[in-house]
Amino acid sequence: MKRFLADIQTHEIPLYQITDTYLQACAVRETRRDIDLSALQAYLDKACYIEILLDLGKCIFDNQSITSNETLLTDGNWIWSGDLNHYSLLHHFAWPEAFITSVQKRSYKPKRITGRQKNEIAHLANEISRKVYGEQFTTVYPNGKDETVYAERTYVVTALDTLI
Ligand SMILES: [Zn+2]
Repeated sequence: MKRFLADIQTHEIPLYQITDTYLQACAVRETRRDIDLSALQAYLDKACYIEILLDLGKCIFDNQSITSNETLLTDGNWIWSGDLNHYSLLHHFAWPEAFITSVQKRSYKPKRITGRQKNEIAHLANEISRKVYGEQFTTVYPNGKDETVYAERTYVVTALDTLI
């Protein structure tokens, strides 16, 4: 199952691919004590949906129906696969240090995302999805923009398969 988390604040985008192996390793250990888990969960719950796959996914641990990995969420600075909210809440998913730092810096308060920002993020999410899922599909943008808008971006891909 492919899922990811990407820091979209710079032109060089750290992109973390999160494997099942990594989730399994996280599930059997304690969550860091310096993270306010209820504040983190409230933050994740307030994230903005940018791509919605109507199909649900299945949790790899308990087979519960959860948000699909192909549904994408954003806080304006990061984009992540929607199923990570469930793994964070119930299975000790360890977010990369940089993500936790960025949330803590903001005191767990999500920033407001304007319609325009949301469109730009959706555009980028689309590009990242194609990179991650290796899918080819055509996107039509109503305002005449095309996908070369973000062509100058580069990605630094890290596979999260061992504990961080
Ligand atoms: Zn579960």
